[in-house]
Amino acid sequence: MRKSKRLDLIPPYLFVKIEERKEELIRKGIDVIDFGIGDPDLPTPSHIVKKMREVLDTKEAANYPTSKGEMIFRKAVVNWYKKRFNVSLDPATEVCCLIGSKEGLAHLPLAFIDLGDVSLIPDPSYPVYKICTTLAGGEAYFLPLNAKNNFIPDLDNIPADIAKKAKLLFINYPNNPTGAVAEISFFEKCVKFARQNDLLLVSDLAYSEMGFDGFRARSVLEIPGAKEVTIEFHSLSKTYNMTGWRIGMAVGNAEAVQALATIKSNIDSGAFKAIQLAATEALTGPQECVIDNNQIFEERRNVLYAGLTSLGWKFDKPKATFYFWVPVPKGETSASFTEKLLDKCGILVVPGSGYGPSGEGYVRMAITLPKERIAEAIRRMEKASITFLESA
Ligand SMILES: *Cc1c(COP(=O)(O)O)cnc(C)c1O
Repeated sequence: MRKSKRLDLIPPYLFVKIEERKEELIRKGIDVIDFGIGDPDLPTPSHIVKKMREVLDTKEAANYPTSKGEMIFRKAVVNWYKKRFNVSLDPATEVCCLIGSKEGLAHLPLAFIDLGDVSLIPDPSYPVYKICTTLAGGEAYFLPLNAKNNFIPDLDNIPADIAKKAKLLFINYPNNPTGAVAEISFFEKCVKFARQNDLLLVSDLAYSEMGFDGFRARSVLEIPGAKEVTIEFHSLSKTYNMTGWRIGMAVGNAEAVQALATIKSNIDSGAFKAIQLAATEALTGPQECVIDNNQIFEERRNVLYAGLTSLGWKFDKPKATFYFWVPVPKGETSASFTEKLLDKCGILVVPGSGYGPSGEGYVRMAITLPKERIAEAIRRMEKASITFLESA
């Protein structure tokens, strides 16, 4: 058989390798503390599961869904956006149901990127933006995120010829992997930039509901006129502990939503109706579960932040997401520090370099594990004398 050249362009998905490594260690009998993949360890709220059970007993669940999603789901999305962000959307033209937002983000470049076109992509970032731009025949132009720019890209630094060739600008706040948040003034800059350069602004809002110390994320679509140039991706995965259910949505500019729906309707046939109806229940039902979730993650965040601080680390306490973007000690690389934590402490983290070249010098820790395990990880690090001493 002869495989495509395209396949050579893409690495194995970051977490596939990490999962393999974890299994190898567990086979050796090591008690691994897993800060790896950002997959909530908490259960899907019971009222959502109950709804799913009810729908499964009906006849309608079995049939093909419509490609943009069931109207009842799209209306639930519209009402949720209105209530949460005071953003108005038309359920007929400005909402598309996704099989998880990863699916939509992955298919979007097929609708916008021709050979040699450019996507502006934060570095580090969720790997899907770059990989799927590449698969579509396009090129990524990286926008570095670092401590100096507070992990917010500097749009003024983009060369004019690149901006001209660019068709998509990806942003993601609250941010994976850095845990950074953005002010609405940055979103305003992005909308202006998209308008000036006739490109589509792609806002990935997967973590909007995960905020601490009272932080509430904003939607780009809150900005007047943003809808003319913006598509926003959202997901129930992180908000309702539903990563395995595969359900999300794209909303915003009708032309962009339709372009994505055209690609999708030729590839997949939409999300399982029963899941869409359970997701409708999630969006319209009681929201206490979201608050409860955040309390748990906030407590975990406090434990990890206090622990790392006690070992000498100095960085801003994350205000959102379940990620810590942790600088590696002097003399270490992302890879060597990841190895060290694994070998000496049985602690699994993700090397920051996996998220792009500017991720070198960091590791990402996801607090998707009980606080007792987080405390145990800190004890193991202390015992192994793993500290962050800048002057070392
Ligand atoms: C988790 C995540 C998603 C997508 O999650 P789905 O489960 O596919 O909805 C999208 N973007 C970022 C940045 C994420 O971390």
